[in-house]
Amino acid sequence: MEQNSSCLSARIQSLAVSATLAMSQKSQELKAQGIDVINLSVGEPDFNTPDHIKDAAKKAIDENFTFYSPVPGYMSLRRAIADKLSRENGLAFAPEQIVVGNGAKQAICNVVLAVVNPGDEVVIPVPAWVSYVEMVKLAEGKAVTVSAGIESDFKITPAQLEAAITDKTRAIILCSPSNPTGSVYSKTELQALVDVLARHPRVIVIADEIYEHINFTGSFTSLGSFPEIANRVVIINGVSKAYAMTGWRIGYCAAPLWLAKGVTKLQGQYTSGASSIAQKAAEAAYNGPQDCIARMRDAFERRRDLVVELASAIPGLKVNRPEGAFYLLPEVTAYYGKKTPDGKVIETSGDLAMFLLQDAHVAMVDGAAFCAPGYIRLSYATSDDNIREAMRRVAESLAKLK
Ligand code: PMP
Ligand code: GLU
Repeated sequence: MEQNSSCLSARIQSLAVSATLAMSQKSQELKAQGIDVINLSVGEPDFNTPDHIKDAAKKAIDENFTFYSPVPGYMSLRRAIADKLSRENGLAFAPEQIVVGNGAKQAICNVVLAVVNPGDEVVIPVPAWVSYVEMVKLAEGKAVTVSAGIESDFKITPAQLEAAITDKTRAIILCSPSNPTGSVYSKTELQALVDVLARHPRVIVIADEIYEHINFTGSFTSLGSFPEIANRVVIINGVSKAYAMTGWRIGYCAAPLWLAKGVTKLQGQYTSGASSIAQKAAEAAYNGPQDCIARMRDAFERRRDLVVELASAIPGLKVNRPEGAFYLLPEVTAYYGKKTPDGKVIETSGDLAMFLLQDAHVAMVDGAAFCAPGYIRLSYATSDDNIREAMRRVAESLAKLK
């Protein structure tokens, strides 16, 4: 019998490809063919990792941090993370409650796999990052999406949350500042959601705070700081975004001890401790000077202003003013039904993203991948020149649709 992709497990067959990574790959392939693509698809800081962090990694190699690390991470790193959570967020986590993994991505997947039984429901406010729903599918759970559009600044209401929770709800995954919307829940808005969650003690609250520092509101409230739910909040964070360290692959969960132990058991059978060298670099990030964070945040804020100004001036794009992260999610349905110069009708946001890749050579991601059909996401974590040129090309190409 010849084996092919139909022989993959049902689990893998039902899994979607990561649209963010796929679009980025596609734009790299086009670039390799000599096409001048501006890549606004993948979301990662365009800055280099600060020198003091790179130096710590070099030193770690010289000092032979080259052996297996403890499964949940070096105690020195977990202490540095516990200090960070105390210093910046006012949260009291012991190092034993922290499990370091290969990026926030693995940290979230670990937690989902550790708490979700087949058939359990996980509430996911959408638009949401591409991987949440797929992680729930991996755990054989059911993703229950709760939708909020641009008219409500992409934020769900307490009534929507209450309506989504059932006897089967095991967890909620909330991301603020949000990928892909850039929306930031205020302390008051979070309190209103916490009031609902307080009535449902079985629900584990997974707070994805990876964009904590890319926040233009001037204040950040961690979901871990609400006493009503503190004993069942899991904080997800890492060094990828705040310290421009996406390739180093260090993230963590800070969780109730029973859950941290479960996650450690899973990781011990699955991937072991994260890279020893990257962990020492992350330790330097948390313990070292923090001014790099503000410098990068300021650059993102300036670019936010630029991209909002330019995108708002393009006819047919409905744009909000994101308060964090580095994404813009314009609504594009005004272009539905229009024809491209070669006669193809734009029927979905995916069609539009594909047209803009082919005609404008600007790579963006179809909102459908974030459970937000009708929108397209662009990452403005790139130079001012790239932003200007990309918006010029997008405007020019959209004007060709009749
Ligand atoms: N959560 C969100 C919302 C993200 O955007 C990302 C980055 N794609 C992650 C988690 C994963 O980050 P990391 O690079 O640390 O795995
Ligand atoms: N934060 C990024 C994005 O959403 C990284 C790619 C990914 O892991 O999805 O584009």
